[in-house]
Amino acid sequence: MTPTSNDPTLAVVRLRRARRVLLTCHRNPDGDAIGSELALAELASSFGVESVIVNRDPAPVTLSELPGVGTVMVAETLPDDFPEGYDLVITVECPELERAGFNGLDQAPILNIDHHRANPAYGEVNYLDEEAPAVGEMVWAMFKAAGVEPSVEAATNTYVALATDTGDFCYSNARPRAFRAAAEMVERGADPPTISEWVHDGRTEASVRLLGEALKNLRFGCDGRFASLAVDEEAFARAGADSTDTDEIINIPRAIGGVEAVVFCKQWEPGLVKVSFRSRGRVDVCSVAASFGGGGHTNAAGCTFKTDLETARRQVETSLTELLGGQG
Ligand code: 5GP
Ligand code: MN
Repeated sequence: MTPTSNDPTLAVVRLRRARRVLLTCHRNPDGDAIGSELALAELASSFGVESVIVNRDPAPVTLSELPGVGTVMVAETLPDDFPEGYDLVITVECPELERAGFNGLDQAPILNIDHHRANPAYGEVNYLDEEAPAVGEMVWAMFKAAGVEPSVEAATNTYVALATDTGDFCYSNARPRAFRAAAEMVERGADPPTISEWVHDGRTEASVRLLGEALKNLRFGCDGRFASLAVDEEAFARAGADSTDTDEIINIPRAIGGVEAVVFCKQWEPGLVKVSFRSRGRVDVCSVAASFGGGGHTNAAGCTFKTDLETARRQVETSLTELLGGQG
């Protein structure tokens, strides 16, 4: 049987047993993914366990101030010394192993750490908790379970994870558990105003120009109950933007009164469309993403289409119309 638990202890025990760990996360990493990886690297090091962080895609510039972020490697393939040089892989926030974007990760034992819905527990050990506000909070719980004092850096990285995944403690996952962990992180040295500046005021000019491109074709469905945005390769080129510049754009139409869901379709290479969904309250966009082979959380989800932009956009709009129609 594959050990699976929402208790951090099993994960701590497994990490302690390792000698050299490869840490990775989902493609197009966000604050929760990077913050959690960096804190896990510190926890590993406190056990005398070596670790290497390798991601398939770069992190957005808004995460470039995170302590230790310079150690994160970005590569198209796994390191040359993999798997021989490692006795554990830790996947962070990968509801499917493929989401890491590397072939052959399963050649080493996997510790799977995630809070997404429907993670199939593909690891040798699975630390999974759908109720966790962020993986960063789960990693924080690992420090506590291990009896390791987190440094200011670990507190900062896990706070970034928690603050970004809860939308600055505004989304439906901002429950007491999130605030308790946040209070502890701040007590240990995380500084909310500094972190907020990094995450919100460190945007690139390209990301603001891309917002302009996206808003040019803003459209609505279901009498204004959902909004839809899209950017194609030409829009990316005009804005001078890449995949790391798309964060936050989706939140702009989400702030329009009466809008309950937003979909943002991004095509940055021909025939490949990455779709992001956001919603409010009980509007379950994860169910829509899952129907197209993706997943996520009730209020934030995503999926990928291998088709052209307008086809993907029409399909998700039709699904949102059905979803909202059913919830009248
Ligand atoms: P984002 O829109 O920020 O890329 O993703 C929103 C949420 O949906 C995140 O929790 C993310 O991990 C999840 N998500 C995005 N794309 C996919 C996907 O293709 N498959 C799954 N299972 N989850 C996704
Ligand atoms: Mn997360």
